[in-house]
Amino acid sequence: MLKNVNKGKGPVLTGFLLSRRKKPLGKNPSNKGKNMKSIIAAVSGVAIVGLLWVFFKPPFGKNIVHLNTNQRVVALTYDDGPSPPYTDPLLDVLAKHEVKATFFMIGNRVEQHPETVRRVIAEGHQIGNHSYSHPLLGLLPPSQVRREIERTDVVLRQIGVKGEIVFRAPVLTRFLPVAWVLAKRDRAHVSCNVWSWDWVTQNPDRITKTVLKKVKPGSIIVLHDGKGVYGNAKRLGTVEATDRIITALKREGYTFVRVSDVRQ
Ligand SMILES: [Zn+2]
Repeated sequence: MLKNVNKGKGPVLTGFLLSRRKKPLGKNPSNKGKNMKSIIAAVSGVAIVGLLWVFFKPPFGKNIVHLNTNQRVVALTYDDGPSPPYTDPLLDVLAKHEVKATFFMIGNRVEQHPETVRRVIAEGHQIGNHSYSHPLLGLLPPSQVRREIERTDVVLRQIGVKGEIVFRAPVLTRFLPVAWVLAKRDRAHVSCNVWSWDWVTQNPDRITKTVLKKVKPGSIIVLHDGKGVYGNAKRLGTVEATDRIITALKREGYTFVRVSDVRQ
């Protein structure tokens, strides 16, 4: 090939190649500028992804997603209550099956419905902290995060909650400010590994199927007896699904515990 190319065009091509060689890539000011820009863009990209990762998935503090056991034991957890029209029938279902659960309550609703909270305590369930007003906690500054958590702790103590107060962030937003505030107090965040999706559907069949498909020993199942911002959402589908889920899991040999019953 080279022989053919050189035929008649040899001097021209050689001259061209030599002229290219005189300007190596790195020494061309415009190429050098482009290379620098590419390096800066790549480093910035990596840094931004790293910062986002640290913000949304802080690599410190304790995030509990399942119970520390291989036994056929699960924890039913209910967020966003108390909401008497749903919390009360739910308590009836749990009592019928003699099952204890964990309720992550919103502080201002605890103040609004103290009688329901007292019933939850009297019937032996665990009550956790789910912030005072259910904001997207992970997107707030640490000072506000602290206020939301501490205010709810105070409300829960005042109404008679004893022992450990477990915490779960609204919409599971355990982002950097939340993880940081919790880590400073050596406090864990209680997440879950089974989403019931009962905030999307209140069809008891669908909620039951979703939970039963994903459940395994040690699962922490998240359901709702209220709703974060709009407190009047209907939750009777969750109540009915709870009845079915407990019946089905008992048949498979599962037992039910409160989150703090299994040492993490
Ligand atoms: Zn919530």
